[in-house]
Amino acid sequence: MKSYRKELWFDVPNRREFIHITPDVQECLEESGIREGLVLVNAMHITASVFINDNESGLHADYERWLEELAPHAPISRYRHNLTGEDNGDAHLKRQIMGREVVVAITDGQLDFGPWERIFYGEFDGRRRKRVLVKIIGE
Ligand code: ZN
Repeated sequence: MKSYRKELWFDVPNRREFIHITPDVQECLEESGIREGLVLVNAMHITASVFINDNESGLHADYERWLEELAPHAPISRYRHNLTGEDNGDAHLKRQIMGREVVVAITDGQLDFGPWERIFYGEFDGRRRKRVLVKIIGE
């Protein structure tokens, strides 16, 4: 069995953003040389997500509005977590909803997606360097 590990780094200038990372994961898969197996892609921070859905800007705007309705950033005093001196109480909740990681099957050297599936990094507390782990196992 082969094993491959890589960290993808992001420095998002805004507090929140969705970034399409399927091409980065595909590049990792090519580097790994693995033809059959599994790829795990996970956010290494508790205020960011990795998720799979449609690469469609209207949907991403809907996510942004929906998440802000569920867990508004302001007023920051609404979150007990912010009593620590942080202002990212909302970001922890948004990350929980959108998830930590995805696992995708690798078949014949390709990401074995369903129709329209693409991988995204969801940033909810940006403006600093953060990373995503890509781990591939197989042969
Ligand atoms: Zn925090």
